[in-house]
Amino acid sequence: MSIGEKTPTSLVAFEDVTFSYGPTTAVEHVSFTVEPGDFVALIGPNGSGKTTLLKLALGLERPQQGRVLLFGQEIDQFKEWHRIGYVPQQASAFKVRFPATVGEVVSYGEYRGFDPLAIFRTGVSSAVERALHTVDMWEYRQRLVSELSTGQQQRLLIARALVHQPALLMLDEPTAGVDVAGQDQFYTLLRQLCRDLGTTVLLVSHDVGVVLHEATKVVCINRTLVFHGSAQEVTDADLSRLYGFSVDLIIHRHQ
Ligand code: ADP
Repeated sequence: MSIGEKTPTSLVAFEDVTFSYGPTTAVEHVSFTVEPGDFVALIGPNGSGKTTLLKLALGLERPQQGRVLLFGQEIDQFKEWHRIGYVPQQASAFKVRFPATVGEVVSYGEYRGFDPLAIFRTGVSSAVERALHTVDMWEYRQRLVSELSTGQQQRLLIARALVHQPALLMLDEPTAGVDVAGQDQFYTLLRQLCRDLGTTVLLVSHDVGVVLHEATKVVCINRTLVFHGSAQEVTDADLSRLYGFSVDLIIHRHQ
């Protein structure tokens, strides 16, 4: 079977997907899959359609052509959203001074509808506690989120996405604005999630060098699919074709 062909166990399958915002075609005839256990990096230049693919995979947009399947189901029929965790771009998450604690924000990840007893509950649930331990933020549970560093806010968003122990975690440019130490910690955490919890990861990133080192599969997009396959198989020619200039300028492959 060729890489990208849909299997009964594909967690995400894009089949010949085309999507336009009015006259602007953002992605065209895109097909690829995310399989259980994959760590897929979605890379491409600015405006190449990465966020659009993530929106399509989250059901926030519907393709004009082709289809998107989640866990083998047409996205319109898919109801098990608790199996998917989403981590937004950190920069936009806590722009204003936010008068909530770490524990409260992660508890929002538990929300599944109106809960009349919520106001009588104090503290955090075991699911929230587990998620905070996973990202090593348990001791920060009573701190205000506005007092956290960018890297800590990033881990907080991951904890919120992990509350339901999702099988699939989707992240959009999660390390933007995070310092080198924070990024290191972030990738260590993702590795642990993949290896120890078996979480499948779909990561949108501009950080080509790091991503090629960390991910098992790579999807290179520039409106159409430029490459989809093993991270080891991406060639400098693929990357040059993707970014339109010499990759030596943008990548220092880790050995
Ligand atoms: P990336 O995430 O790779 O930077 P996007 O998916 O955000 O790319 O954008 C792909 C293309 O779609 C770009 O040409 C962008 O200008 C356009 N686009 C994105 N969002 C919208 C929108 N809401 N309305 C109109 N055009 C959009």
